[in-house]
Amino acid sequence: MVRKIAIYGKGGIGKSTTTQNTASAMAHFHNKKVMIHGCDPKADSTRMILGGKMQTTMMDTLREEGEEACMDLDNIMSTGFEGIKCVESGGPEPGVGCAGRGVITAITIMEQQKVYDDNDFVFFDVLGDVVCGGFAMPIRDGKAEEIYVVASGEMMALYAANNLCKGMVKYANQSGVRLGGIICNSRNVDGEVELMKEFCKRIGTQMIHFVPRDNIVQKAEFNKRTVVEFDSECNQAHEYETLAAKIINNDKFVIPKPMSMDELEELVLDYGLVD
Ligand code: ADP
Ligand code: MG
Repeated sequence: MVRKIAIYGKGGIGKSTTTQNTASAMAHFHNKKVMIHGCDPKADSTRMILGGKMQTTMMDTLREEGEEACMDLDNIMSTGFEGIKCVESGGPEPGVGCAGRGVITAITIMEQQKVYDDNDFVFFDVLGDVVCGGFAMPIRDGKAEEIYVVASGEMMALYAANNLCKGMVKYANQSGVRLGGIICNSRNVDGEVELMKEFCKRIGTQMIHFVPRDNIVQKAEFNKRTVVEFDSECNQAHEYETLAAKIINNDKFVIPKPMSMDELEELVLDYGLVD
């Protein structure tokens, strides 16, 4: 059975980096069949897997070549590092229409073609720290059963994570979606591990892994590769290997208990981080 995982978190927090490296680690170190479905109009969720190539998006194909072209997997799906399958939903022309709708269309087409079923893991890399419209779809309609939120010890990242939890609570009963944990993508702020562990405890989940901040991420990016492909023996690659293993073996899935704004602010103040 394929496990469908959605990665959420505030913009710029490291969702695409973490998704691509974790997917690479699953394929490279753990021999899994993996697919990434990018659900961000930026369409950069699979770029490092494809050696820097921008995957033609489903929405562009639909607009420019029509529905039939969009149903042809050769047009909209590429295979990259370690056989990882890559699809990008894309979005509307900037300023026109609702970007979330593209996600709904793209996922529906993939499901019709049963593309997901042929994998051990499918990752949805989803834009948005508020659970609205099409971006909520993986949560709302049970398209993804497991959610991981990428966050750091900064107020805005925790605020976004907490908001996402509110969205999950709203849909958990109807869709069966569960939170698998918070991935701490470090910003090297003081007391980050302690703050993150306490945050996770309060909302009833686990910090599934602490991913250090490491310049090798930029170096690999410069070479248009994930860290796992660029240097599979480096420390950061092994961090992603560990994160991948923890996700593979995870059995702690919860309906989170989001905090009130006051409670969250107090928590951050307690840990002395008002960033
Ligand atoms: P998102 O997809 O959430 O918008 P990205 O994955 O694009 O965020 O990350 C933004 C930038 O942060 C990337 O260009 C990457 O270089 C950097 N980054 C992410 N994670 C790390 C890390 N663990 N160490 C160093 N740099 C990182
Ligand atoms: Mg991204």
